[in-house]
Amino acid sequence: MKNYHLTPEEFREQGKQVIDWIADYYENIEQYPVLSQVKPKEIENSLPESAPQRGESFKQVMEDINSKIMPGITHWQSPNFFAFFPSNTSFPSILGDLISSGLGVQGMIWATSPAATELETRVLDWLAEMMRLPEKFFSASTGGGVIQDTASTSALTAVIAARERATGFNGNRKGVRQNLVAYVSSQTHSSLEKAIKMAGIGIDNLRIVDVDENFAMRPDILKSLISEDKLNGNIPFFVCATLGTTSSNGIDPIRKIGEICREENLWLHVDGAMSGTAMICPEFRHYLDGIELADSFTFNPHKWMFTNFDCDVFWVGNRNELINTFSILPEYLKNKATESGAVFDYRDWHVQLGRRFRALKLWFVIRHYGVEGLQYHIRQHVSMAQEFAGWVKDSKDYELVTIPPLNLVCFRHKKGDDFNMQLMNAVNDTGKAYFTHTKLNGKVVLRLCVGQTHTEEKHVKQTWELIKSTAEIF
Ligand code: PLP
Repeated sequence: MKNYHLTPEEFREQGKQVIDWIADYYENIEQYPVLSQVKPKEIENSLPESAPQRGESFKQVMEDINSKIMPGITHWQSPNFFAFFPSNTSFPSILGDLISSGLGVQGMIWATSPAATELETRVLDWLAEMMRLPEKFFSASTGGGVIQDTASTSALTAVIAARERATGFNGNRKGVRQNLVAYVSSQTHSSLEKAIKMAGIGIDNLRIVDVDENFAMRPDILKSLISEDKLNGNIPFFVCATLGTTSSNGIDPIRKIGEICREENLWLHVDGAMSGTAMICPEFRHYLDGIELADSFTFNPHKWMFTNFDCDVFWVGNRNELINTFSILPEYLKNKATESGAVFDYRDWHVQLGRRFRALKLWFVIRHYGVEGLQYHIRQHVSMAQEFAGWVKDSKDYELVTIPPLNLVCFRHKKGDDFNMQLMNAVNDTGKAYFTHTKLNGKVVLRLCVGQTHTEEKHVKQTWELIKSTAEIF
């Protein structure tokens, strides 16, 4: 019968070329400008307006990758990428992801591929053990972990589960009638605001707690806002504490916030998007002190743990609260394994039904590096960032804005906001490095985040020299 498919032999041939292409890319990555230099619509206008009627050759597609797509790539995998946060990857992760694509399984329930569920359970227990998370987050206890697409989805999942716990699971039935109130700090990631909107809580019911001089949430203010809300007849139900805020890597005092949450019976979600990875190293675990008081904890291996986007890990202390919130069992999904209660059906642990076999890439990463290798590279990144902070501190023209707890350095040139913005744009325009800015206490602050897989000391040093020499020519 006629078909248009590639044969396995053709796939083998083209697949090898793609692997070679990726290896070449990494070998030559420093030759590209880190920040893409294209103008808006340049890529779109270079592509045909309609799809090809007849299929095209692999060679033609690869030529277009090189000539049309590559100019529009910002090279997150460049060792000179210091912007936002890392979205690092690694060769073992790419290979694990490739096998996941090759298998093409849809692991929505245990029965649709038992290995997809059970590997995920095992790998998340490994990770929990690597970070010494409390017993309740393990699958053999009351909780367990699940892979989500992003920390934003984990935030939404936590808010909805918290809503249901607070309403005795009536929110799902009758809609949210009570004035439920949630608390975040002024530095909390915007995904929490989005989650509060999407969960039907309403942003008028989101309280913004002030931060201290280290940009960490102030528990005394949290406590007084909760008391005020209760006096006004509102129902406090949810707090998000952050382990490493986006702007400045501020670390909220989890224990103090957790004690308030336990007294008041509020759901505590801990968002460790980037910095969570550092908890693999014992010397940084003090930042997670009090995590046993949390109801949920999330971080992104797709940021700093050498695992391709997307891969967010999310643990809860009581999985029944999640399952009671999200479980729906239509006739077409009924099966013996689910009915036996002996298996996890991860579709009941989050918003989506369909799910990729993402545990594979995480498993490849952990097995390749081992705990020792992961600790080594995290420590290298932290130490390079600390070294950069030392250079800033010793220079007469620049100042450190915060004492960096881990791998993110917040600094500024002493010449003021406009100068800092011009300096950053000029450095980024060279294509030799890419870093970004934020505002802290109303002032422009430059952020240098060290976390790309292949960044070495020489890249950090070159970038510091580039910043200084660029500042001198203004
Ligand atoms: N939380 C924090 C602290 C972050 O820094 C980020 C990303 O910048 C997020 C959440 C959102 O991450 P994701 O893209 O996985 O939703």
